[in-house]
Amino acid sequence: MSSNNSPNHTTEPNRIAVVGGGIAGLVAAYELQTAGAIVDVYEASHRWGGKIQTTPVGDRMVDAGPDTFLARAAEGVELCRKLDLADELVAPVAAVPAYIHRDSKLLPLPSGTILGIPTDFDAVAASGLVSSEGLARARQDLVLPETTYTDDCSLGWYCRQRLGDEVTMRLVDPLLGGINASNIDNLSLESAFPALATIAKTTKSLVEGLRAHQKSVGATLGSTKPTTAGKPSTAPPVFYSLPGGVARIIDRLVERLEHPANPNFTPVRLHLDSPISDLRQLDTQQIVLACPAPVSSRLLKSINQEASQQLATIDYTSVSQVTFEFNRSATDPVLDASGILFPRVDGLVATAATWLSTKWDHYNTADKVLIRVSSGRADDLRSATMTDDELIAQLLEDLGTVININQPATAVRVQRWVGAFPAYTPGHTDRIQHAKSALQDSHPTIRLAGAAYDGIGIPACIRSGQRSAQELLQAGPG
Ligand SMILES: Cc1cc2nc3c(=O)[nH]c(=O)nc-3n(C[C@H](O)[C@H](O)[C@H](O)COP(=O)(O)OP(=O)(O)OC[C@H]3O[C@@H](n4cnc5c(N)ncnc54)[C@H](O)[C@@H]3O)c2cc1C
Repeated sequence: MSSNNSPNHTTEPNRIAVVGGGIAGLVAAYELQTAGAIVDVYEASHRWGGKIQTTPVGDRMVDAGPDTFLARAAEGVELCRKLDLADELVAPVAAVPAYIHRDSKLLPLPSGTILGIPTDFDAVAASGLVSSEGLARARQDLVLPETTYTDDCSLGWYCRQRLGDEVTMRLVDPLLGGINASNIDNLSLESAFPALATIAKTTKSLVEGLRAHQKSVGATLGSTKPTTAGKPSTAPPVFYSLPGGVARIIDRLVERLEHPANPNFTPVRLHLDSPISDLRQLDTQQIVLACPAPVSSRLLKSINQEASQQLATIDYTSVSQVTFEFNRSATDPVLDASGILFPRVDGLVATAATWLSTKWDHYNTADKVLIRVSSGRADDLRSATMTDDELIAQLLEDLGTVININQPATAVRVQRWVGAFPAYTPGHTDRIQHAKSALQDSHPTIRLAGAAYDGIGIPACIRSGQRSAQELLQAGPG
């Protein structure tokens, strides 16, 4: 098997099966195809893309899963370049503010906040988000002795040590916990936020460490800056999206897999409605498992107990999202914001509301507002038990605590994501390493890929798919 991007005509090409047709599996198939392999992809459901999906709301196609991906992680942009989509990538509208809910009020996310961690205490004071006692406690971060831990700890524990409970629950949890609907007290600092773990290990003060990091890398950690709403920004974008929906990446990938641009590559055989329940269904020993970890755990059970057990420990959080389209005249105020975060401590069912029509130019129209309200997080399963009608009513009520909505929505979409996000609990990296090396020892031609392992974001899943394919090619047919 040649791995230099040109098919090898002198020997029998590798036959490889990919289980799971989300971004990780499709990217693995793409990588394998371009190395000359003969590939089959098996997807349990009736469509490609897994968590990436774009469906109609009213007469527009709107992202139902991710609406964006990190620009600074090269893999997303690079894949779009290979798929001839890079010229269409768009950045969010610059400098629209974000808000946090407190006591039925909308308070601005303080400027200088990086991933929910304040670096400008005066801005936190001015925002009114935190009591004076909470702020005084957070300032102690600058003078407290170093916080040490062995191996790994929870993000919540570390932030409580440095900043106290109030800032942790009012600022850090809504942002960092919100990213993957987790409970920050059970979220691994080392595997979910390696950049913060590095700061924790190298500087005494978290805030000073972040300030220094910010100076060296610019805005890439996702900071809020005091800028003028609506003005074009000169800073490189932190996020990208695609007009028409992120699922266009999936559509283009599937197109290329079926009809490779290079006529020397073999079209990938794509099988929808094809759940794999036993590895013996696949007519090859060379396999990429790009399905959720509990599925991989079941598939590996009969061949590698150790790997199977490690993967079985990965829990998933389910979320539900309702996307509302309103007439512009229906909401008061017409919020000039990218969104609102609803902290867990306030007890609402809504976790966040994204003003898609403000955040993205391609969703901005003169007459309509598009708002996506999210619900569901670790240890809060209320939304999962509601009917669609109950959920819609509940999220409208939660939104109504801060926005006056005086007309019914012109379109509504309810999206349930069962098993949306793998939980990276403390010790995650070690458990994954353990599972992978156990599997490699017994079955070097079976590889794991996807959101459960080395990052949940789209670029991380692309990287994971690519890496699994490369490792498989290196391992050879076995
Ligand atoms: C609501 C939501 C919002 C998000 N927002 C963002 C964001 O803004 N930015 C970002 O970067 N990331 C975001 N993410 C995360 C990101 O979208 C996912 O982590 C990523 O798409 C997961 O890709 P994957 O290929 O690993 O898994 P999946 O997309 O879960 O794909 C796995 C596939 O395996 C299939 N499968 C399952 N069992 C079997 C079986 N037995 N046989 C065959 N196939 C099987 C499934 O049907 C599925 O299609 C979001 C996720 C969600 C849910």
